Amino acid sequence: NSFIELNLSRPLLRACEALGYHKPTPIQAACIPLALTGRDICGSAITGSGKTAAFTLPVLERLLFRPKRVSAIRVLILTPTRELAAQVHSMIEKLAQFTDVRCCLVVGGLPTKMQEAALRSMPDIVVATPGRIIDHLWNSVSVGLEDLAVLILDEADRLLELGFSAEIHELIRLCPKRRQTLLFSATMTEEVDQLVKLSLNKPVRLQA
Ligand code: AMP
Repeated sequence: NSFIELNLSRPLLRACEALGYHKPTPIQAACIPLALTGRDICGSAITGSGKTAAFTLPVLERLLFRPKRVSAIRVLILTPTRELAAQVHSMIEKLAQFTDVRCCLVVGGLPTKMQEAALRSMPDIVVATPGRIIDHLWNSVSVGLEDLAVLILDEADRLLELGFSAEIHELIRLCPKRRQTLLFSATMTEEVDQLVKLSLNKPVRLQA
């Protein structure tokens, strides 16, 4: 029961070591190998379970072997709040510290111009709140989701509680059909289940 057994590359193992992660949490041990096979995942996981690294590590592993840099977002992570987006972004920067994978934060309350520039500098991963990323996608010709490989919905129950249903539907519409989708939620409500049916393809269900 170690990160080495999860088949992660050296730069990611180094980052786990630097962060003091000695062994994967249960959700990480379950999610990482599955996500690496490309399957869609619906995970019941609360904050504190280690879910952020559970979805970030397989995504980083995939990006390490990406072809040349493409001028579009490869991974989009949607979170319900700016605070959570900032936390996820900071966690990704730490886990990606020994790689050349780049991540950018797109949330309300930060200057749009700076975010526009950050998006144009071709980040691999974008961590965003739904409203702000839609603004950018609608108003910018240079940023698109056409090369998206992975969509992650973090805290799906809260995304819906906060009224982001229409935005999420619009974002899913803009994503390629052929993609991997990972959804995490503390609670599995009727609404979350509908979102799972709409956005995931034959998902594996995991319980933290
Ligand atoms: P999360 O559930 O993603 O919000 O993570 C909760 C906390 O657990 C964060 O502070 C992480 O840095 C930490 N964490 C995540 N994975 C591990 C691990 N395998 N070992 C020790 N701490 C971890």
